Amino acid sequence: MLSVAEAQAIVLQHARPLPADAVAIADALGLVLAEDVASDLDVPPYDKAMMDGYAVRSADLPQGRGLLAVIDEVVAGQTPRRPVAAGQATRIMTGAPVPAGADAVIKVERTQLVDQRVQIDDEPPRPGTNIFYRAQEMRRGDVVLARGTVLSPQDVGVLATVGRPQVQAIPRPVVAVLPTGDELVDPGQVPGPGQIRNSNGPMIGAQCRRAAALPRYLGIARDRLDSLRPLIAEGLQCHVLVLSGGVSAGKLDLVPGVLQEMEVTAQFHKVEMKPGKPVFFGTRGQTLVFGLPGNPVSSLVCFELFVRPALRRLLGHADAGPRVVPAALLGDFPYKTDRPTYYPARLEEGAAGWQVRPAAWSGSADLWALSGTNAFVLFPAGDHRHSAGTRFPTLICE
Ligand code: AMP
Ligand code: MG
Repeated sequence: MLSVAEAQAIVLQHARPLPADAVAIADALGLVLAEDVASDLDVPPYDKAMMDGYAVRSADLPQGRGLLAVIDEVVAGQTPRRPVAAGQATRIMTGAPVPAGADAVIKVERTQLVDQRVQIDDEPPRPGTNIFYRAQEMRRGDVVLARGTVLSPQDVGVLATVGRPQVQAIPRPVVAVLPTGDELVDPGQVPGPGQIRNSNGPMIGAQCRRAAALPRYLGIARDRLDSLRPLIAEGLQCHVLVLSGGVSAGKLDLVPGVLQEMEVTAQFHKVEMKPGKPVFFGTRGQTLVFGLPGNPVSSLVCFELFVRPALRRLLGHADAGPRVVPAALLGDFPYKTDRPTYYPARLEEGAAGWQVRPAAWSGSADLWALSGTNAFVLFPAGDHRHSAGTRFPTLICE
C-alpha cells in the first residue's frame, strides 16, 4: 500500500497552477499575484501635512518660538490658495497639501491663536517636520508588488492606492462537493430510521473555503448508478471533484466504478493510514477527483492531507504543504494501532516549542471530539507506551 508521502507526491504531480485571470481586489485576499504591478502615480501625490496645526517656514523659528501672521487655511481635499512668506503661517489639517514656501508643520497643541496671529512654542522645527513628501512612499512607475506575492490585506490596500481595482492573479479553483449515501438527509431534516444527517457536505465546503477555493455543492447522490452518474458528470466540469462516501469495500460503494466508466483514471485507491485508508484519487484531463471515505473524521483528515495541498498548487503557491511540525506529547499516551494514525489533538506553541495533547476520541465516526482541536498527531503503527515529552510529527489543521 502507498504511504501518505507517496500518495501526496502523486497528487502533486497532477496539480498545475490554474491560468491567471482578472480578479477584483475585493476578492483577492490570499491569492497569488500573476503580474508585476507598478504605481501609476507618485504617492503621496503632493507634500502632505501629517498633523493638524500650522504650516511654517522653519527658518522663522530658530528657537522654536515666534509669532506668525495666519494668512490661509487648508483642509484635506483642498489646495492652498497662497504661498507662505517670511513671518507667515497657514492653518493646515492632516492630509492637506503643504503650501509653497512652508517646509514644516507645527502641531496645533504647541500653538495659540491670537486674533489673526499664531503664537508658537515648540522645539525648533527641522525642514520636513510633520511633512510626508511627494513620492516619499512610491514613485510613478515603481514596481510595488511583484508577481508571486501572496496578497495580504495591506497588499489589497496598495493595489487600491495604485489604481488597480482588478489585477491578474491565479483564480480560486472551483470544487464540486458531492456527498453520497442512501442514509443521508440534509442538516435541516430530522433523520428517520437508519438515517443520519449529511455532515460531510457542509464540512468539505468549509474546508474548501479555508483553503481559498470555491465550493460548488451538488446535493446528495444516492447509492444508485442513475443518481451517481449525472451528478458525477456535473462535478467533472469543475477544476476539482470531491466525493464523500462510497469508496470502501461495501456492496453499495459504487463510486470508483462510476468514475472508471466516466473515463477518470485511477491514480491510487488506498493509502497506508488511519483513519481514511480507502481514499481514492483520479484524474480526467486537468480535473482532479478525490473520493474521501464517508466517516467524517476520515473525510476531514484526507482532505487536509491530499485535497488541500492540491488546491494550494492549483492556486499557484510554491509551498503546497501540508504543514507538519514536530511536537512534544503532553502526558503519557499508550496507543496500539495497525497503521500510522492521525490522532485528533490540540497543538500549542509554548516557550519549549510545539506541544501537543491528544483529544479524547473514539474513532473515525466521532467528529465532535475534534471541536476545539487544531491538529492531528501522527502515531506509528504498533503497540507503544508513548511517554510525555516524546516528539511526534503533527499535522496542523487550521
Ligand atoms: P462510506 O464511506 O460510504 O462507507 O461511509 C462510511 C460511514 O460514514 C458510514 O457510517 C456513513 O453513514 C458515514 N457517512 C457517509 N457519508 C457521510 C456524510 N456525508 N456525512 C456524515 N456521515 C457520512
Ligand atoms: Mg456510503
